[in-house]
Amino acid sequence: MARINENYLKLQAGYLFPEIGRRVRAFTESNPDANVIKMGIGDVTQPIPPAIIKAMHDAVDEMASAETFRGYGPEQGYAFLREAIASNDYQQAGVQIDADEIFVSDGSKCDCGNILDIFGDDNRIAVLDPVYPVYVDTNVMAGHTGPADDNGRYENLVYMPVTAENNFEPELPSEPVDIIYLCYPNNPTGVVATHETLTKWVEYATQNKAIILYDAAYVAFISDPDVPRSIYEIPGARKVAIEMRSFSKNAGFTGVRCAFTVIPKELMGYGKDGQEHAIHPLWNRRHCTKFNGVSYPIQRGAEAAYSEEGKAQIESLISYYMHNAKLLREGLTSMGFEVFGGENAPYVWLKTPSDMNSWEFFDHLLDKCHVVGTPGSGFGAAGEGYFRLSAFNSPENTEEALKRIQDSVSAGIK
Ligand SMILES: *Cc1c(COP(=O)(O)O)cnc(C)c1O
Repeated sequence: MARINENYLKLQAGYLFPEIGRRVRAFTESNPDANVIKMGIGDVTQPIPPAIIKAMHDAVDEMASAETFRGYGPEQGYAFLREAIASNDYQQAGVQIDADEIFVSDGSKCDCGNILDIFGDDNRIAVLDPVYPVYVDTNVMAGHTGPADDNGRYENLVYMPVTAENNFEPELPSEPVDIIYLCYPNNPTGVVATHETLTKWVEYATQNKAIILYDAAYVAFISDPDVPRSIYEIPGARKVAIEMRSFSKNAGFTGVRCAFTVIPKELMGYGKDGQEHAIHPLWNRRHCTKFNGVSYPIQRGAEAAYSEEGKAQIESLISYYMHNAKLLREGLTSMGFEVFGGENAPYVWLKTPSDMNSWEFFDHLLDKCHVVGTPGSGFGAAGEGYFRLSAFNSPENTEEALKRIQDSVSAGIK
């Protein structure tokens, strides 16, 4: 009798994005002429910059001749890419990370889930609430939680609410935790962490022999010079933190797939007997056993993201999206909405008006404005009463959406 992993049965059925899709389809079926503006899912809309496309084309051509053809590459990534990452993203910013501490992969979403392979099942796991759902669901699948309650919160996970009430600053857990997921710039709230906040976490992790999983997928959207780019800017972080970055949101690789995870050599985990073990060789073993590397043309494309041309083209992509974020922030604020994020992240997080809950506001925006956003409650219980709008769109659509929201506000929401 083939037994299944019953942890999968604990997963909440109505996953956020399918439910949004269902409601949007129902709406467009009964309103086929409506021009629906989608500001929901966090996917980029602009094409990949030309310097990167050129590098990928050239690499494809190399595969066409016996002299330049490449078969299996190093599982951890080609040296040319790992060195470009270590140098550009870390060393040039004064952060000590070596090329052999970088593991190139096919996505940060994948890395977030896969990393659990090397950790024990008896760790206490802490997440922010609201949260990127992947951190929670992968822990449910791995059997690290009990069942979900009526709010969708799983037993044994430690949730750290981040709301306007605490200024989106999570409190340290009152019970000891072993693994802490942090995401800055944050999805979904669009807020960033200060040096003080990250220092607090690095100190906590050091004292508790815990590990921080730091998701920096949106680092390219930070413009404020005082906001830390990497957790490794914090002294001591090399001993307690794993950082994940992706080419998805800066270079438009959501469909192309390339990302990386940083595991410093000093990072330690512990056996049942309390004995210290380096994490680097464990992850190296896992990565080499279960993964065969990112395709060569894609790694050449990622490398080109660090060329002078590539950097300039990415910068203009980021400004394109961040202009939309500014329009959203300013437009919604002037209409009287309470707005967070959107300054160093492509997401704007707003408080729903008139005491509507997140899904009520979703339906209102869809029915009255033909605008699709993401209900905050879909990211966790503490996201109830909030709503996410994404800057991954055109300025024309962003302005049109704002105009429609303004009209609906003037007509009196509800
Ligand atoms: C988009 C996103 C990622 C990137 O995932 P990929 O698998 O690299 O495309 C990672 N973390 C968060 C929070 C994201 O929103």
